[in-house]
Amino acid sequence: MEYQNSWEFAKSMDEKDPLKDFRNRFFIPQHNGKDCIYFTGNSLGLQPKKTAQYVQQELDDWAGMGVEGHFRARNPWLPYHEIFPKQLSKIVGSKENEVVVMNSLTVNLHLLMVSFYRPSKQRNKIICEAKAFPSDQYAFETQVKYHGYDPAETIIEVSPREREYGLRTEDIVSVIKEHGDSVAVVLFGGVNYYTGQFFDLKAITIAAHEVGAYAGFDLAHAAGNVELNLHDWGVDFACWCSYKYLNSGPGGVAGAYIHEKHAADTELPRFAGWWGYTKATRFKMKKGFEAIPTAEGWQLSNAPILSMAAHKASLDIFDEAGMKRLVTKRKLLNDYLLFLVDHCNAAFGQKIIEIITPRNEIERGCQLSMLMLKSGQEIFDELTRQGVIADWREPNVIRVAPVPLYNSFEDVYRFGEIVGTTINRFK
Ligand SMILES: *Cc1c(COP(=O)(O)O)cnc(C)c1O
Repeated sequence: MEYQNSWEFAKSMDEKDPLKDFRNRFFIPQHNGKDCIYFTGNSLGLQPKKTAQYVQQELDDWAGMGVEGHFRARNPWLPYHEIFPKQLSKIVGSKENEVVVMNSLTVNLHLLMVSFYRPSKQRNKIICEAKAFPSDQYAFETQVKYHGYDPAETIIEVSPREREYGLRTEDIVSVIKEHGDSVAVVLFGGVNYYTGQFFDLKAITIAAHEVGAYAGFDLAHAAGNVELNLHDWGVDFACWCSYKYLNSGPGGVAGAYIHEKHAADTELPRFAGWWGYTKATRFKMKKGFEAIPTAEGWQLSNAPILSMAAHKASLDIFDEAGMKRLVTKRKLLNDYLLFLVDHCNAAFGQKIIEIITPRNEIERGCQLSMLMLKSGQEIFDELTRQGVIADWREPNVIRVAPVPLYNSFEDVYRFGEIVGTTINRFK
């Protein structure tokens, strides 16, 4: 694709875009009476216009029938969560019995670690990326301490080489090999929240299995963003939130994946609750936990219906758009953004923006992380004043993520134009 730094080019790309009408399904935040350039779908996805209707339906059914809604609501609440595996399995590349919607992300990470991080004297290490998302770091640290081990010795972080920002797959694999049979679990973000690097989950999974360890992933920045094939890659477990690329609202209900070879093993240790209990006999309320032999066997509580209604509003849109088309458009948007940032640097006369996201296309999703080499905070503040909603990460990184469901090529073009004029003020 030959990109051009012109409004006409962006406009023509939008006209050709088979997904262009999806933008109208979302509320776009406003700035001085105009649409913002909303590039923070990686942090909080926008609200589908239909979400209110989905939530209102549950409120109405609750108002109209009270407890009877568990059975008689238009979408009965008792099995409400069963709506999701069909839709989510297409987004994460799994079988339907391998996914479940429940809780929030960090809760699910802990629950899965309870099952898959069971350290022994010989095998107790967690291998992860350096600078994992803080919540994940705290989960790892406290799980390790809970089992009586020392995080400093037990958590092995893979760091980039000197003067590099991304991790090389070969380096990840060699750290896994080096620690060999002392590795209990390899646990990476699917897409690193800071650099935007999409790791090679398949290669990491194979390397983990070769040393007899489990492979798990936090897909907060990957679900709904990049193409995933969790089942075929043999990934043991994964979890994600629904409020980033999955547009299901702040603090929305999260998801989990457990490979069927583990999910079917009802003896696998876990922290259980009544919603994970065999359905046929759940309401006999008997002693002795009997797990559902699917990912549902990890559920604890009955479903948060209002939050799930918002989730459904969004996943129905994903169903219509389809991951394939979303991925195709995402690549074009992201490449165009990269092209325009390169153009800004060239026009400025020296590099002022360093892209720390890998340039290799298969290692990127929606997000580009721009390391600002000069006047970063001032430039960011000016972008905000001009109606760009981006995200600032200390010490000097601006993260931007055009998402294919509601961002346009025009958004990307306008962003490039605003960045271009703004940086020139800081010459
Ligand atoms: C966003 C994000 C979280 C947030 O966790 P919550 O439990 O939803 O608050 C955790 N981990 C990663 C990798 C994230 O990107």
